[in-house]
Amino acid sequence: PTQPYDPANIFAKILRGEITCNKVFEDEHALAFHDIAPQAPVHVLVIPKGAYVSWDDFAATASDREIAGFIRAVATVARDLDLVQPGYRLLANVGANGGQEVPHLHVHLFGGRPLGRMIS
Ligand code: 5GP
Repeated sequence: PTQPYDPANIFAKILRGEITCNKVFEDEHALAFHDIAPQAPVHVLVIPKGAYVSWDDFAATASDREIAGFIRAVATVARDLDLVQPGYRLLANVGANGGQEVPHLHVHLFGGRPLGRMIS
């Protein structure tokens, strides 16, 4: 990874139960909860349970089982929230130029309205 994993990051605290979250899904591989500052009617964050700084770190170092489990969890959350038919958007910010603020991999899941063509 480009930086060591910081176990004091806010999502690590959520995973340890040290701070609360509004949980929507949890399994062996992933936890999903509502973003504290939603940018769409549905704005959920899906995080792997392992200690991965970013998408890049995860892809490079996680096991195939963890990667498959995480991807399936993201899709399951969208399905459970009935977002498949209307459609939704996934986003993962990586590093400074990507605007990543929390150094634990998270995939944003947006839905509930037409999202347009924005890249930001
Ligand atoms: P990033 O910019 O790193 O991709 O996104 C971080 C996201 O985490 C932001 O959308 C922000 O609103 C959300 N966030 C930051 N702190 C907390 C928190 O304590 N709880 C929850 N549920 N979301 C948070």
